[in-house]
Amino acid sequence: MARELNHFIGGKQVKGTSGRFGDVFNPTTGEVQARTPFATGGEVRNAVDSAQRAFPEWAAQNPQKRARVMFNFKALVEKHMDELAHMLSSEHGKVIADSKGDIQRGLEVIEFACGIPHLMKGEYTESAGTGIDVYSMRQPLGVVAGITPFNFPAMIPMWMFGVAIAAGNTFVCKPSEKDPSVPLRLAELFMEAGAPAGVLNVINGDKEAVDAILKDPDIRAVSFVGSTVVAEHVFTTGTAHGKRVQAMGGAKNHAIIMPDADLDQVVDDLIGAGYGSAGERCMAIAVAVPVTDKLGDELVKRLKPRVEALKVAPSTDPDANYGPMVTREHRDKVKAYIDMGVKEGAELVVDGREFRMQGYEKGFFLGGSLFDHVKPNMKTYQDEIFGPVLQVVRAKTFDEAAALPSKHQYGNGVAIFTRDGDAAREFAARVQVGMVGINVPIPVPLAYHTFGGWKRSAFGDVNQHGPEGVRFFTKIKTVTARWPKGGAREGSSFVIPTMR
Ligand code: NAD
Repeated sequence: MARELNHFIGGKQVKGTSGRFGDVFNPTTGEVQARTPFATGGEVRNAVDSAQRAFPEWAAQNPQKRARVMFNFKALVEKHMDELAHMLSSEHGKVIADSKGDIQRGLEVIEFACGIPHLMKGEYTESAGTGIDVYSMRQPLGVVAGITPFNFPAMIPMWMFGVAIAAGNTFVCKPSEKDPSVPLRLAELFMEAGAPAGVLNVINGDKEAVDAILKDPDIRAVSFVGSTVVAEHVFTTGTAHGKRVQAMGGAKNHAIIMPDADLDQVVDDLIGAGYGSAGERCMAIAVAVPVTDKLGDELVKRLKPRVEALKVAPSTDPDANYGPMVTREHRDKVKAYIDMGVKEGAELVVDGREFRMQGYEKGFFLGGSLFDHVKPNMKTYQDEIFGPVLQVVRAKTFDEAAALPSKHQYGNGVAIFTRDGDAAREFAARVQVGMVGINVPIPVPLAYHTFGGWKRSAFGDVNQHGPEGVRFFTKIKTVTARWPKGGAREGSSFVIPTMR
């Protein structure tokens, strides 16, 4: 019988009561290893109540003391890195080194959040008028929530709760039902780091829990990362219920390859960024766009043996390039996209569909696939596939290549490979995509910058982490203060005060 997971409310593990569960698989063996309880609206409300009770004291805590909890938490996560990485890989399927990367990228946001006393400082204008000073302060919103996807079960919760909690909010996290053990363990470690009970709660569930969050009158803001269909639902429903919402969605990231690029490096980068984590990354390179047919021929010739040689193996194999996919259902969806690509007339240069992992035949493994001659009108180009599949779309000119990511419905990440500074600069300025790499295949911004796509890759105006994250999780108040000398009176004024 699979182990039953809990919620984490008010500083302790709490058993689910709905009687509804989701399966957590071991993607390597295909077995169900645990069951995630699906919360009812009432259980979500218990988590909100717990966060609400914790809020006044936590918000009143001086920012340096809140920062100290972040410092302690960082040290604890580092101490438990191996345990967390194995837990993460066992539910997600990514290789151990990549799970450590997932945790480390989250910790970098925690490091950023350690600077919260500086980040929360307001502005001050002395003598804005006679005897008048003006100052602004940033204040937390109250109870806020985060809803996270399966593909980064450590990093994305930390993107959100790190900044939100350091800023003085209390938090309800609804992680992916597919791999919730790491977020639950992070909540325990957060308590151990000195956070009072109720500051960070984890509620497990599906659409019912998400909708309860979106409609709860006491949740002030919702941060979401996941697929575009759900992101749009979260954005429209959450904002209709008066909440501040940022909702990051799907992606289809292009790499433009100019004829002057260092092709050896390009091939290395495309293999890593296209197939790492089985392509289950929102910043994976999904489309390679060589400029000129000659370069296209050479690129595909070099990519083919590299894709065929990819080492797909259980996540604990230190030599594995990537492990199994998260669920059978997702693996089969990606396979169906490969079938569709063939039907649409693209050339399947490497076919990963028949890959079987010896000894783990029931695991959710999929070999790497490579398509050439993909056209922009094909559905497999327009949709996000989210698997170990790289599509080559050939372009004749720089302009034709540069227009592809700009016209695509998604606008998360993009990369250009070139030695030409003019072309790179022009591309970075013009492209309609939120995160741009110049000779960098996965341009995920660092914690003190900010993460967010454009078009149907993100709904809402404010990005994740960095200064934008602090803005998202705080509200600004501006105080205008007059202290007239000697109690001088100015009489009533019936016109709006101006600075004339
Ligand atoms: P998903 O949309 O299926 O799930 C995300 C969250 O929404 C989960 O917590 C899930 O329980 C919940 N959810 C699922 N269906 C729902 C519904 N109908 N109503 C309400 N809530 C629902 O996404 P996923 O499969 O977990 O993650 C993969 C997707 O996330 C990909 O599309 C990927 O591109 C995207 N992603 C985007 C970013 C980014 O920053 N843009 C980062 C990581 C992943």
